[in-house]
Amino acid sequence: MSSPAQPEVPAPLANLKIQYTKIFINNEWYDSVSGKKFPVFNPATEEVICHVEEGDKADVDKAVKAARQAFQIGSPWRTMDASERGRLLFKLADLVERDRLLLTTMESMNSGRLFTQSYTIDFEIIIKGLKYCAAWADKIHGQTIPSDGDIFTYTKREPIGVCGQIIPWNGPLLMFIWKIGPALSCGNTVIVKPAEQTPLTALHMASLIKEAGFPPGVVNVVPGYGPTAGAAISSHMDIDKVSFTGSTEVGKLITEAAGKSNLKRVTLELGGKSPCIVFADADLDNAVEFAHQGVFYHQGQICVAASRLFVEESIYDEFVKRSVERAKKYVLGNPLNLGINQGPQIDKEQHDKILQLIESGKKEGAKLELGGGRWGNKGYFVQPTVFSNVTDDMRIAKEEIFGPVQQIMKFKSIDDVIKRANNTSYGLAAGVFTKDLDKAITLSSALQAGIVWVNCYLALSVQCPFGGFKMSGNGREMGESGIYEYTELKTVAMKISQKNS
Ligand code: NAP
Ligand code: MG
Repeated sequence: MSSPAQPEVPAPLANLKIQYTKIFINNEWYDSVSGKKFPVFNPATEEVICHVEEGDKADVDKAVKAARQAFQIGSPWRTMDASERGRLLFKLADLVERDRLLLTTMESMNSGRLFTQSYTIDFEIIIKGLKYCAAWADKIHGQTIPSDGDIFTYTKREPIGVCGQIIPWNGPLLMFIWKIGPALSCGNTVIVKPAEQTPLTALHMASLIKEAGFPPGVVNVVPGYGPTAGAAISSHMDIDKVSFTGSTEVGKLITEAAGKSNLKRVTLELGGKSPCIVFADADLDNAVEFAHQGVFYHQGQICVAASRLFVEESIYDEFVKRSVERAKKYVLGNPLNLGINQGPQIDKEQHDKILQLIESGKKEGAKLELGGGRWGNKGYFVQPTVFSNVTDDMRIAKEEIFGPVQQIMKFKSIDDVIKRANNTSYGLAAGVFTKDLDKAITLSSALQAGIVWVNCYLALSVQCPFGGFKMSGNGREMGESGIYEYTELKTVAMKISQKNS
């Protein structure tokens, strides 16, 4: 991720108070219809931060009614100037900037995200993302088309309608912005279901949406669980589109539910097992650092994790040695503390799943070079782990780990590595490290991935489309293509008395 001049990082907010724990519908706060609440945890301490109202089908129904009402022809939202929608999004960006310290502290406490990275890297993308979408609002338009006959034809890009947006826990605030920004820019109304582990920043964002002046019902936030609130969204007969980020397994369930209900539009941003390929001619220091960041960034909890690292035979031993040295540098601890560079995994389930996969690597004959166990006795920490002598058939080389675990494999030829890199059902991202332009171009064409990074990794930017090939997803987020995912294209053909050129 590009990071030009970063602001100085202040200390986290002391005595953070959690103000918003209810369901947000029609710009008002509600208890759940069932009366149930669920606990929200701090993954670094395992302590309960607060309890949040647990939304379910009845609450989703209420939110859909509000969103549908706000989307009616003639409503304040539908009749609003596109430039005014843009202004509201710019205003929201200013409010997010105003509450930067609060939001960052909350994000770090609730999701285990490093406070410093959230304050700098995340916020840069969050603010730029909102402003990017704001600026698009009055630039979304159709064409006039020279159709045959005495017909005047034009196209229009209209909002799709009510959009259900189901988001994960591995970048809660950023995901929230990337989902609502394009949807609102195009004039849709939305219902967001944050991940059960991380509802807090989404609820604070709801308060800012009201403060910015969005009409009631345009944005609704229903915290709750996937199989209940999430499933109510994906199978709802009056939701026009669902946009989901999370596991491939749940992505399939959502597609199925959409098919069985009203064939709502579906865009998916799913998992990956992304290859990162290092040729012997690469700048070694650069490749070691990016390959390392590619898999250890945010405790490995990133969909684009470079979790299949292929290194050319002649530099393999040196590469492993340097990668181990690099991974040893971590200081683990509470992500709110400055100087910490690895926080906890999101919860016990993810923590235990990572440890199980590490065990499978040991059993299947990979060489454990570093780490390999839990860290400390409180919080869901995993030691930075590096495996060498990994082969393609091992579970750690095939399954998404979503943890700080690096798998280093060896390759001999360019043809061999292309086949092996593509031998997966995923296709989210790929990295190539070489000084040879010919190899870089050959590889970037041959690799089946939504984004190919050459001599870098994690370079994501709001102006560029992002999404997956194969089972890594469907559709794109951000960039021009990401905006259009929230529009329906309408053709209007009008009979006229005579057409002239
Ligand atoms: P997940 O289950 O896919 O969660 C993502 C979102 O989907 C959450 O809001 C979740 O609700 C919701 N959900 C779950 N079941 C649903 C259903 N039947 N219908 C509708 N929505 C549903 O992911 P996870 O269990 O948190 O993590 C499992 C694995 O997914 C990870 O190990 C990782 O491999 C992958 N993952 C990928 C990404 C990514 O960025 N692509 C992000 C997170 C996880 P709940 O809050 O109840 O879970
Ligand atoms: Mg889950």
